Amino acid sequence: MLGLMQDWPLTCDKIITHAKINYPEREIISRQVSGAITRTNYGEVHDRARRLSSALIKRGVKLGDRIGTMAWNNARHFETWYGLIGIGAIYHTLNPRLFPEQLKYIVNHADDRMIFLDLTFVPLLEAHQDAMPGVKSFVIMCDRDEMPKTSLRGAECFEDLIDDGDEEVQWGGFDENTACGLCYTSGTTGNPKGVLYSHRSNTLMGMTAAMGSMMNVTGSDVCLMVVPMFHANAWALTFSGPMAGMKLVMPGPFMDGKSIYELLDGEKCSFSAAVPTVWLMLLNYLEDNKKKLPYLNSVLIGGSACPRSIMETFDKDFGVQVIHAWGMTETSPLGTISQVEPEIAHLPYEEQLSYRLKQGKPPLIVEMKITDEAGNELPRDGVASGILKVRGPGVSKAYFGGEGGDILDADGWFDTGDMASIDPLGYMQITDRSKDVIKSGGEWISSIDLENAAMGHKAAAECAVIGLPHPKWDERPLLIVVLKKGQKAKAKDFQKFLKGKIAKWWMPDDVVFVDELPHGPTGKVSKLDLREQFKDYKLPTA
Ligand code: ADP
Repeated sequence: MLGLMQDWPLTCDKIITHAKINYPEREIISRQVSGAITRTNYGEVHDRARRLSSALIKRGVKLGDRIGTMAWNNARHFETWYGLIGIGAIYHTLNPRLFPEQLKYIVNHADDRMIFLDLTFVPLLEAHQDAMPGVKSFVIMCDRDEMPKTSLRGAECFEDLIDDGDEEVQWGGFDENTACGLCYTSGTTGNPKGVLYSHRSNTLMGMTAAMGSMMNVTGSDVCLMVVPMFHANAWALTFSGPMAGMKLVMPGPFMDGKSIYELLDGEKCSFSAAVPTVWLMLLNYLEDNKKKLPYLNSVLIGGSACPRSIMETFDKDFGVQVIHAWGMTETSPLGTISQVEPEIAHLPYEEQLSYRLKQGKPPLIVEMKITDEAGNELPRDGVASGILKVRGPGVSKAYFGGEGGDILDADGWFDTGDMASIDPLGYMQITDRSKDVIKSGGEWISSIDLENAAMGHKAAAECAVIGLPHPKWDERPLLIVVLKKGQKAKAKDFQKFLKGKIAKWWMPDDVVFVDELPHGPTGKVSKLDLREQFKDYKLPTA
């Protein structure tokens, strides 16, 4: 017997319509490419998105078309997404930090017919448009008086496009499983692969992310949305924000410590989300300039492991709660979040911190387990470390265009490529990416744990650990350090500092200092590039 409740497709146009009806005055504030700060609200964004939809239909855009967006976080980017979403066209976020070769590949692979871009990217796309023949026209997201002279094909100003549309347009009316957004993973091996979100998966993830046991945000929050929209839907904030009626503050291209501080303070932000690198830059700025964060309550940190030093500094110096999260493009992206649950609430600080530093627990819509290489499930004892697998309505079942073939096992589990343990309370901890784990004498050394321990050294600005070949042990760890400005340290200082903080046999065989580490397109340290850079490096113990 079926239930007798209404069939109400979970399409994402309903999200911005809900915000327009219920929170029309709640603001969306953007830092433009020019540096100027502009203000709009959900009511206006909704109306302009409708006009955009109508103008797009006039230009032949229809259900299922892929439209590229190469833009920072700003209100126009938001309007573009919802203008596309409403008519069932697919926003395809282009990460501007991709190498041009990858960029051309994904635009052509997705068969994008138009690209919306911020002023910043005019030269980049002018240089490569000939290699993207399927793109018929480009829309520049700027004011009319900012419109540059450009050779971009069919270039049009965003404001002219909006003016050409009207609000009388039909939104939604298609199946909730219709494709909604496309985001390519940065592809550490092989070509990038397209993750194709549906209206249903985006809606479910948006609802889930806002929950008290997840990000714990409401309409009373003011959110500084640092994590880019081209990084897995800005971690669902693009949907949770209007669902909850959160005031959104968008930093545009400015993500340095000073700019982030100015927005946090000036707009009285209570919540924010970004990768650890952004927080490191902010904390350095705050320390150098003796600033405080009186309005901020909590920050979500994910994308790579949150170093202990960041969590402790936020706790002790600023009274800001760090919420650690794990996820990936293929998981929409929230997989787990570490919140202080009743079972750990009473624990002494250090003990509680060890749970908060884990990547945490999944929401209802994500199932997870760890297995050995043969696929046998491993115990949730906090000790066994295995391959992390997930499944659920927000997890990919295939890549766009069938790339990579069958990506699920017979029971529908997706192999995340991460190694993890799960403790008896259910908190998951990433031990490493399977390709980064260091295999020493038949045992595994977690590069993440070593990096985090080394980051506790006061002179360390950024650390990375890779395994190098070793005749006796197979691989041994090399610690690579970027020192803070004006700081000095030697290899043996770091080794001495690590003593007692890590297992004896985990001690890096050597420590080298570099001016900077290579970063991938989502801001993470690129281990692939580091391994290449140090491929001829001989450990003193080898
Ligand atoms: P990529 O880094 O391959 O471009 P994603 O941006 O989707 O793709 O990154 C997903 C990966 O980032 C995860 O599989 C995991 O290795 C890493 N990651 C994300 N969050 C965390 C975290 N909190 N701790 C450790 N690793 C993380």
